[in-house]
Amino acid sequence: MNTFQELGLNTDLLQAITDLGFTEPSEVQQKAIPILLQKETDLVALAQTGTGKTAAFGFPMLQKIAIESRTTQGLILSPTRELCLQITNEMNLYGKYCKGLNVVAIYGGASITEQARDVKRGAQIIVATPGRMKDMISRRLVDISKIEYAVLDEADEMLNMGFKEDITEILSHTPAEKNTWLFSATMPKEVASIAKNFMHNPQEITVGNKNESTNTVSHEYYLVNARDRYIALKRLADANPDIFSVIFCRTKRDTQKVAERLIEDGYSAGALHGDLSQNQRDLVMTSFRKKQIQMLVATDVAARGIDVDDITHVINYQLPDEIETYTHRSGRTGRAGKTGVSMVIVSKSEVRKIKSIERIIKKEFEKKDIPDGMEICE
Ligand code: ADP
Ligand code: MG
Repeated sequence: MNTFQELGLNTDLLQAITDLGFTEPSEVQQKAIPILLQKETDLVALAQTGTGKTAAFGFPMLQKIAIESRTTQGLILSPTRELCLQITNEMNLYGKYCKGLNVVAIYGGASITEQARDVKRGAQIIVATPGRMKDMISRRLVDISKIEYAVLDEADEMLNMGFKEDITEILSHTPAEKNTWLFSATMPKEVASIAKNFMHNPQEITVGNKNESTNTVSHEYYLVNARDRYIALKRLADANPDIFSVIFCRTKRDTQKVAERLIEDGYSAGALHGDLSQNQRDLVMTSFRKKQIQMLVATDVAARGIDVDDITHVINYQLPDEIETYTHRSGRTGRAGKTGVSMVIVSKSEVRKIKSIERIIKKEFEKKDIPDGMEICE
C-alpha cells in the first residue's frame, strides 16, 4: 500500500490531504493517481460509488494544470447540478493551497450570465453538467479549445440520462490531443462505445466489486401487496427509529406523494426531485446533510452521486426501471467503511427482479418480513 506521498503528489496537495484527514489513498486512487500523474494518457476507471473517485481524478488534474495561467485547462462533466457543486467543493478543498486556483461550476437552473462572468475571470477548471455546458458553448460564453484534461464522471449515469449527444458536441469543441478520463460505476454498452469512439488506447483500471464500501452493505427484500407499500415503509421506519435514509421512488409524482404522506404522518421527511425549484432542492439537501431530516425521498436523477455520509438505510420504495441503477442506490449507504442496509419493498409481480439484481451485485438478498407489533398510525 502506497502513501499519498509515494503516489507522487506535490506538497500543496499533500498538505490539503493532511487537513482533510485522509490517511491513505483508496484503491481507485492507488491505481489511478500514478498513471495520471506519470503519463499523458486516456483512462477508463470502473469503481463503485463512494470509492473516492473525485480525488482519483481531482488530485492529478490539480497537479498537472498550470495554476499560474488563467486558461481553462480542465473540464469535468458530471450528470447533475448537485454533483457538480459537490465536485467543485471537493476540488476547492483539494486545491486549497494551490494559490490562484479558480474552479467554476456550470449547471442549469442558475444565472447563465453570472456563470459566464465567473468563467471570464479565468477558470483553470470548469465542472459542468452537459446541458448547460452545451448551452454556454453555443452562446460562445466559454472557451474550451485549450482543454488538456477532460473528465467524464459518472459516465454511465450521464448516458442513462440521455446526455450522449451533448457530451459528443462538447468534446468536439475540445482539442483532439487532450486526455480523457472516464469514471463510471458500471460499464454498460453505451459507456464502452463512448470509450471506443472518443478515447485512444485508454489505460483501464477496475476496482473490484469486493471493495470495502460494497461489502459493508447488506441487502434485504420485503414482499408486500402493491397497495401496502406505504404501510410497509412506515413500519420499516418505525422499527428503525434512528434511521437516516434515502428512499427511492420511480417518479417525481410518487416521490412528492410519499414525502408528503410521511410528513403528514409525523415523520421527519423531505422530497428531492426535478420538479422542485433549485432553491427548494438546496434547502432540502442542506437540512438532510444537517440531519434535520431523517428520510430523504428522492428520484434517482435528483439523488445521483450525492455524497452524504452516515446514511444507515437505502430504501427502494419501488425498484428502478434499469436494474443497474440499483447499484447506485445501494451505494448511498455503507460508505467509508461503515455498515449500511439496502432494503427493497417488492410486490409479487416484481420479485423475480431480485434475482437479476443478485446477479449484478454478486451478493444475495435476505428475504425478511415487514416488522409488525409496532404502533403504526394508520
Ligand atoms: P465517488 O465519486 O467514488 O462516489 P467520492 O469521491 O465522492 O466517491 O468520495 C466519497 C467520500 O470519501 C468523500 O466524502 C471523500 O471526501 C472521501 N474520501 C475520498 N478519498 C478518501 C481517502 N483517501 N480517505 C478518506 N476519505 C476519502
Ligand atoms: Mg463521484
